[in-house]
Amino acid sequence: MSKVADQSPRWSAIESSTAVQFASKRRSAVEFGCAAALSVRSSSSPHSRFSYSARRNTEAKAVFAFESEQLDYDYRDIEQQKKIVADRFDGQGWEVPKLLAHLDTAEDFYFDAMAQIHMDDWSKGRVALVGDAGYCASPLSGQGADLSLVGAYILAGELAAAGGDHTIAFARYRAEMLPMVRACQNIAEGVGKWYAPPSNSMIRMRNLNVRLLPYLPWRGLIGGAP
Ligand SMILES: Cc1cc2nc3c(=O)[nH]c(=O)nc-3n(C[C@H](O)[C@H](O)[C@H](O)COP(=O)(O)OP(=O)(O)OC[C@H]3O[C@@H](n4cnc5c(N)ncnc54)[C@H](O)[C@@H]3O)c2cc1C
Repeated sequence: MSKVADQSPRWSAIESSTAVQFASKRRSAVEFGCAAALSVRSSSSPHSRFSYSARRNTEAKAVFAFESEQLDYDYRDIEQQKKIVADRFDGQGWEVPKLLAHLDTAEDFYFDAMAQIHMDDWSKGRVALVGDAGYCASPLSGQGADLSLVGAYILAGELAAAGGDHTIAFARYRAEMLPMVRACQNIAEGVGKWYAPPSNSMIRMRNLNVRLLPYLPWRGLIGGAP
């Protein structure tokens, strides 16, 4: 997972060469909202969600997610991003004020849109994209790591099987991966509304569903990776 700390000039080197390499490919980002960091204990108000997890009771990670229009911000300007989060959650109850107080000192702050990447093709010439670069499903799918690992495995296998002909390997890689990519991206499309529900009644329904989940007949469908 890329962190804000990675957004040094190194980023622009790969970003611009990727942009040049794939300039003729259609690439679209489908945005769901915005997020920063990670979770387990959670609480919600309409259109937003805040949660934290504690590792070995020594280190807490917090996530602040909110529904929004497409935001206009500088992805290198961390202070601006922290201000967006602080403004959005200003005045909220629960542990939020305490967690927001750590924004200024957080070294692993991460801020990004919940977005998917859809591309007509994942390769050009001798270069192929793997994982989020080619087919990000967004954190809402919970399948991004699987997609990256399976994608790398299949690509490596097809390159070996094609005996050095990368055009054959790239075509087979896409054909094999596409159903899994589509299935994982579909998961995220259904999850967004429940992640940051738009009303208090939907929050209550979401929370009730989560509590009842172990007892529901379709519990096996949840979390089942394609
Ligand atoms: C908040 C959040 C929660 C998530 N939760 C889950 C989850 O529960 N389950 C799940 O499966 N997935 C989850 N994901 C998604 C998952 O993290 C990603 O899908 C996965 O990490 C993508 O792997 P990748 O190798 O394609 O890209 P990345 O993990 O982003 O790896 C790309 C690497 O390239 C490096 N890089 C970038 N530019 C340069 C450069 N110019 N030079 C050198 N190196 C460079 C970056 O530093 C990074 O290390 C989550 C993501 C987020 C943001």
